[in-house]
Amino acid sequence: MTTAELRERLQFYRDLGVDEIFVRQAIALTPDVNVLSRSPVSVEGAALTASAIPSLAPEGDTLLKIRQDIGDDCRRCRLSEARAKIVFGSGNEQAGLVFVGEGPGADEDAQGFPFVGRAGQLLTQMIENTATKEGIPIRRPDVYICNVVKCRPPENRTPQPDEMEICGQFLFRQLMAIRPKAICAMGSTAAKALLGTKEGVTKLRGKWHKWRDLPVMVTYHPSYLLRPYNQDAKREAWEDLKKVLHFVYD
Ligand code: URA
Repeated sequence: MTTAELRERLQFYRDLGVDEIFVRQAIALTPDVNVLSRSPVSVEGAALTASAIPSLAPEGDTLLKIRQDIGDDCRRCRLSEARAKIVFGSGNEQAGLVFVGEGPGADEDAQGFPFVGRAGQLLTQMIENTATKEGIPIRRPDVYICNVVKCRPPENRTPQPDEMEICGQFLFRQLMAIRPKAICAMGSTAAKALLGTKEGVTKLRGKWHKWRDLPVMVTYHPSYLLRPYNQDAKREAWEDLKKVLHFVYD
């Protein structure tokens, strides 16, 4: 990475609302940045004594700060053009379990909260019925629920890679701020954002993966389960959820 590329990268993070970076390792800048080098470097006069790779989670980061950094009228990507409300997330800010969906639908866009439409009702039932059956004393407000993108994609289309990348940085900060015991990625967009894989949900589901050091369970998106012919997927999603709930709450 050249100095110019590094400057551009840092500006990108600043635009995302990340105004502090924490340095883990030293880097050398000439001719290319070598993140493993131990020597102190300087970028445009700013001394960096360790790695210039932003941690993306400023120390002491909180959900409130992340929400403030997004702002009331975020225009970082084209999803802002048609959205009504930014849908940040809801639930217990110290949750042991975070569910990650794709992006707000029409109901969420109107109300400003994630998973409040039909898919949300199914998600609530899945969490609460499975927990009750398994003797785990949790309700939906005990977990945290959010999405990869915080604004509704037009016609509920799949978020595009640049939209996922821009908004995904806020998702990552949310996850680092909460630091749950496990994450449940619902659907292929959440799986792609967290695991960086193009592998389909059918292949990924039911097994443990990792996002940074946090365990991730991939399962089907509730909207997919609402389709009438998906009985097998429904059964599998319930199995996945059981696994996650026992992992987190036993
Ligand atoms: N689908 C999602 O992925 N997220 C929501 O919040 C609602 C529906």
